[in-house]
Amino acid sequence: MRTSIATVSVGGTLAEKLTAIAAAGFDGVEIFENDLLASPMSPAEVRVRAADLGLSIDLYQPFRDFEAMPADLLAANLRRADHKFRLMRQLGADLLLVCSNVSPAAIGSDELAAEQLRSLASLAAEYGIRIAYEALAWGRHVDDYLHAWRIVHLADHPNLGTCLDSFHILSRGFDPIGIEAIPGEKIFFVQLADAPILAMDVLQWSRHYRCFPGQGMLDVRGLVGHVLRAGYSGPLSLEVFNDVFRQADAGRTALDGMRSLIALGLPEPVVPTGLAFAELAVADPARLGELLAALGFVRTDAQRWEQGAARIVLRTASGEPELAAIGLESPDPDAALTRARTLRATVLPGEHAIAAPDGTQIVFCPPTTVPRSGHITHIDHVALTQPWHHFDEAALFYRSVLALCPQPSLEVPDPYGLLRSRAMSAGPVRMVLNITQVQGIPTQHIALACDDLVATARALPPDLLLEIPANYHDDLDARYDLPFDHRALGIMYDRDDHGEFLHLYTITIGRVFFELVQRVGGYQGYGAVNAPVRLAVQHSRGPMTPQ
Ligand code: MG
Ligand code: MG
Repeated sequence: MRTSIATVSVGGTLAEKLTAIAAAGFDGVEIFENDLLASPMSPAEVRVRAADLGLSIDLYQPFRDFEAMPADLLAANLRRADHKFRLMRQLGADLLLVCSNVSPAAIGSDELAAEQLRSLASLAAEYGIRIAYEALAWGRHVDDYLHAWRIVHLADHPNLGTCLDSFHILSRGFDPIGIEAIPGEKIFFVQLADAPILAMDVLQWSRHYRCFPGQGMLDVRGLVGHVLRAGYSGPLSLEVFNDVFRQADAGRTALDGMRSLIALGLPEPVVPTGLAFAELAVADPARLGELLAALGFVRTDAQRWEQGAARIVLRTASGEPELAAIGLESPDPDAALTRARTLRATVLPGEHAIAAPDGTQIVFCPPTTVPRSGHITHIDHVALTQPWHHFDEAALFYRSVLALCPQPSLEVPDPYGLLRSRAMSAGPVRMVLNITQVQGIPTQHIALACDDLVATARALPPDLLLEIPANYHDDLDARYDLPFDHRALGIMYDRDDHGEFLHLYTITIGRVFFELVQRVGGYQGYGAVNAPVRLAVQHSRGPMTPQ
């Protein structure tokens, strides 16, 4: 399948965009009109530049507000189109995207829309150009891809087909199964975008929050299946409007887009079965070692601390302590590494090791069985900090390379800003990606699963625990009648329809702290309701070291 991407999807000037898109390995581009208008390059120069970079120009877009207009506007609209056809000839583009009319002047008549689109297609044919008609999710009369297809079918012109856009289809909840009823040769173009589920105006949602397939919550993969079964053989093209991508490095965004298309073509990945270890890079392992010993961990070699299946490696390195590596138990480490390589992940020297976008090392390990040795049984989750402009990239990486499913994003209030947080999980493997605009708070942590948090907390030296305000405990007493002394033990609590969650936090060492959690029943969350209190306390205390 050929790969393409709209120039609007990445940041920079048109020249910079083309360079980045070519470097990422795309076959072609959609030239977005505003990118051309703002460029000092003439259409002919763009054509040469693209050809030199090995890129075909697959589409020129958008052409707006054309069809189903009052008859007296048709001549002016055709004149406007004629200008664009001449431009496209210089550009070397032979496909024009026409999106459904949003003008208040548009008339709700399929016959009129078909008739005028037929005129447009006839004019286009004189230039060897074809028209791909797309239903915008907010089109005035045509907002459904099957409606657009009915009009194309009615117009019945060889130079007129339809363009399918996954965002416009899935954002409105239209069933994509209907795509299979469209003849493949009448699907002239396919644009792909994902998006987070947001309760907002669909136009604003589309213009600012689209993302690459796999970064959001829409079933783009399923839609592509319908497109291929319909017999479509043209390019799969990414068309993403995203405020963050516009500001991010073009090369990195383009590569991420390519990764999203490669992932669509791969079989479902091998799902990891556990968190094998977490490795902390620390200047002074002794301090963290004391904390681990207090938590009941046993040192098993120079760097390694273990309790049950929870393994923490303390590697000596200069700088602030940070989470440097995570081991993932995989039923097939070789296949996991091959998949990562196919998805252009950075493969590191050593056994089955790759780099995540934030630099964290991920190591695929064969599963092991370990006898229980204390109340701490395994690593429940790890939380990593992402640079704000790499948040979606990280989500795609963890999903496509590591087979973790994204959960909806949460925004957690902090005294001085917001912490955005998104969990990625597959069964017992849970990672939480955090971004924060706030400097100075620790956002990397390792959460250790306990089978009896109350007993564990009783045995802990109180000066190692994060002190939670009395107001929090008063509120817990108001809401619940808990059968343990949460106040004395410093335990926080949450409950949902599936079960209960008990957790506590250690003090912070450098940028890192530990959380101890006990899941009771089927609780699937992370105690997010308590995070604002925890963040406020961490802020007030600053980085601490054990006495
Ligand atoms: Mg589109
Ligand atoms: Mg946590």
